[in-house]
Amino acid sequence: MAEMFPGSASTWDGAPRTSQVDSRLTSPIAGSLLARLREFVSRHRMRRAHADEVYTRSRNPKRGLPVADAPAVYAFTGRMLKSRKGLIAAMLIANGGAAVAGLIAPLLLSALIDDLTSGETEAAMLAQVNRVVLIVLIITIAQAVLQLVARRASAVLGHGMLAEAREDVIRWVLKLPLSRVESASTGDLVTRVTRDVGSMAGAVRWALPRFVITGMTLLFTMVALFVNSWLLALPLLFTGILLWIAMRRYLRWGPKGYIAEGHTYSRINSTLTETVEGARTVEAIRLGDTRVALTDDDIEAAAQAETYTLSLRSELFFITGLAHRLPLVFAVIIGTIGYGADLVTLGQITAATLYLQQLVNPIEMMIMVVNQLQVGVASTSRLIGISSVPPDRESDPDAAPVDGHLVAKDLRFAYREGHDVLHDVSLDLRPGERLAMVGPSGGGKSTLGRLLAGINGPREGVVEVGGVDVMRLPLERLRTEVALVTQEHHVFVGTIRDNIVLAREDSTDDAAVWRALSTVAAAEWVHKLPDGIDTMIGSSNYSLTPAQAQQIALARLVIADPHTLVLDEATSLIDPTTARHVEGAMNALLTGRTVVAIAHRLHTAHDADRIAVVEDGRIVELGSHADLMAAAGEYARLWQAWRS
Ligand code: ADP
Repeated sequence: MAEMFPGSASTWDGAPRTSQVDSRLTSPIAGSLLARLREFVSRHRMRRAHADEVYTRSRNPKRGLPVADAPAVYAFTGRMLKSRKGLIAAMLIANGGAAVAGLIAPLLLSALIDDLTSGETEAAMLAQVNRVVLIVLIITIAQAVLQLVARRASAVLGHGMLAEAREDVIRWVLKLPLSRVESASTGDLVTRVTRDVGSMAGAVRWALPRFVITGMTLLFTMVALFVNSWLLALPLLFTGILLWIAMRRYLRWGPKGYIAEGHTYSRINSTLTETVEGARTVEAIRLGDTRVALTDDDIEAAAQAETYTLSLRSELFFITGLAHRLPLVFAVIIGTIGYGADLVTLGQITAATLYLQQLVNPIEMMIMVVNQLQVGVASTSRLIGISSVPPDRESDPDAAPVDGHLVAKDLRFAYREGHDVLHDVSLDLRPGERLAMVGPSGGGKSTLGRLLAGINGPREGVVEVGGVDVMRLPLERLRTEVALVTQEHHVFVGTIRDNIVLAREDSTDDAAVWRALSTVAAAEWVHKLPDGIDTMIGSSNYSLTPAQAQQIALARLVIADPHTLVLDEATSLIDPTTARHVEGAMNALLTGRTVVAIAHRLHTAHDADRIAVVEDGRIVELGSHADLMAAAGEYARLWQAWRS
């Protein structure tokens, strides 16, 4: 379903988009003031409806990553604050002290003015002034010291919380079930771990401490105002009511607006990442203009979302601006009348105006802080959303397979609910055998391979190794039992050694790394590198040829030493020279292991001990080449077709 956002023409779930921008948003605004106002309101409503819709959908998306709700954010922040009670106490005490210190000066000045107007002698007045000035000086110094302590405590608190939150985010991302990572766009994940972590950092480091500091200053100043004169404090009620109205509206719509805004940034990143990843295709089939148009649409959608949050902020700042400036005017009016009626003294009026003036900055700061906190809450919702994806496995650290016998029982599997791609598949692998999987494309071979290797869990049925469900094996154990080998040979940034030992964290022995490199016939070229196994590879470091990258990946498998390997067309896409080069390494790796080879070329199947023909999500034939030829079924037909 296309997003109903005018102008963006972007879609939430990848439906076709158009690059046309709604004329209601772009046409020159014409007509009377009333018409303009009407148009503004209608555009605002449309943007709000869009933000609301995006928010609702992102709470529980069919694909991709969800967004957590506000209570989850508060619970998460509360947990982090709970473990830092000492720092919070230091921050509150120091801030409280500084705020109280800031209130004493107006009180002293108020008393001084009342004294001065009460007709004392000149010498007595001078002594009084000197005393007050000295006390004010001492208080100011004390306030500065307390503020320093408060700032330090809040900085330590903010940085500590941020570090913990970042670690949590990394842990959540790494725990995401692979199936969910695949369905989420790279752009969304990247936006969450970069921009959203940044916004959360801003909220935690800057806004949270200031919220406490400003909140205390506001509270104490208001109390002081009431203590000074309740009559002169009455204008605060006006401030309170206006602030309440403005905040209520803002807190209702703000978070949704910011979450929708975050979503539009994810879209920009997704489109850009997709364009960069598919750069060759884009160039080959001249997709440049289309990609630019798509990016324009995404930017337009982001601009609309930003305009919406900007209008929310403008409304908030306008009302709060009135709320904190007008009381000063009211206080002077009430003061003038009250003074005439002998209800207040000149000193009280002075103190009240000073306090009200002192309130202006904290109120402005509070509004900015609340706004920044909302941005932070929205980003944290998107981050915690990552953690709310349920795990696809419950591993049991004590699970210990008795042997390397891999058995699949009655497997059913669906990528999308209600669309099974495997139906009741059972397979008993004989330890040490080579089984080839053949069959038409889309029949379910790769899916079955992923289930056998424990990458995805079946909807029904079980894959067991040595009597233990593979989905219950801790991942580090699973890696040493069964591994999936695909054409994707990712090289991580790090040394060659790092890239190899990551398969088995306990094997940091250099001799083992060299043995693994020898097994895959890579020791020779690695020896020739100036830094040997300490050579940095990946990203902009020493660049490996595809064959070398594959050898590193295979050496990783030698170290992991799984008894069963599932090869998903492991060498079919490599160029023939590279394939020949790697074939020896591959054969060395396969020796002595159970192998399931997903084969599209029938001649590789011919050499296998058994062949499984997978069609429409079922194993329709299973046996040796000779058996299946004799049976004259599907395999025999495929073989004849291939031979001719
Ligand atoms: P094969 O390896 O035999 O070509 P696959 O296991 O790749 O078959 O695909 C089996 C079915 O599952 C096909 O209908 C395919 O479209 C579907 N499929 C494969 N991967 C995914 C995926 N990531 N999401 C949704 N459907 C998928």
